[in-house]
Amino acid sequence: MKADKLYLVGFMAAGKTTVARALARRLDWQAVDIDELIEQREHLTVAEIFAKRGEAYFRALEREILIDQTAWYPLENWLAAFSAIAESLGPRALFQIGQTAPSFVVLPPTLNDIHSGVAGVNVGYHMNHRKDGVPMFDPATGHMLTGIGDYGYAPVPGERRIISRCDTPYPCDFDRGIVLGFATKFEKGARIEHDDSAPCRKNGHPSCTYLISW
Ligand SMILES: [Zn+2]
Repeated sequence: MKADKLYLVGFMAAGKTTVARALARRLDWQAVDIDELIEQREHLTVAEIFAKRGEAYFRALEREILIDQTAWYPLENWLAAFSAIAESLGPRALFQIGQTAPSFVVLPPTLNDIHSGVAGVNVGYHMNHRKDGVPMFDPATGHMLTGIGDYGYAPVPGERRIISRCDTPYPCDFDRGIVLGFATKFEKGARIEHDDSAPCRKNGHPSCTYLISW
């Protein structure tokens, strides 16, 4: 697994900036200070923002910047790590590990129900993959590049059911766990069934189909 970011969290004046700069020099990485980003954006110092707008306003900005930068990124590392060892795990273990995916990911605030949650798996998946150096999903335009498969999302009108056809490079049981993990994040009692009448990657087909209900 290769991490591409480290976050230093601590009280004011704890020495985060000093440690971050030293680490950045050592690793040949870039140090980014969230306070500085906020100051540039607001054209005010942190002290002025606290005085004029209040702490709640400052914390909201801080959260917005952190979510921008962290949303979904752990998913990429996590998928990369597990896809490497996935084939050697049994189906039960793959399914269970898949279900833990949401707990590794900072969910964007736009994911707020089972529909946005299941649809969001594919968005996060594409935001984390690059084609010619460009992220495959652009949140600004909603444009998505293809080529790595999809986590499907097809709601069944009038029913508490979603059909998800997945044709990613990951194993069937792993994806079944991931999709269920995102579904149960928003609907505790959600269930998932493998549609055995549809093709399955275990049999060499390019996709699997899952039925989510709650
Ligand atoms: Zn399958």
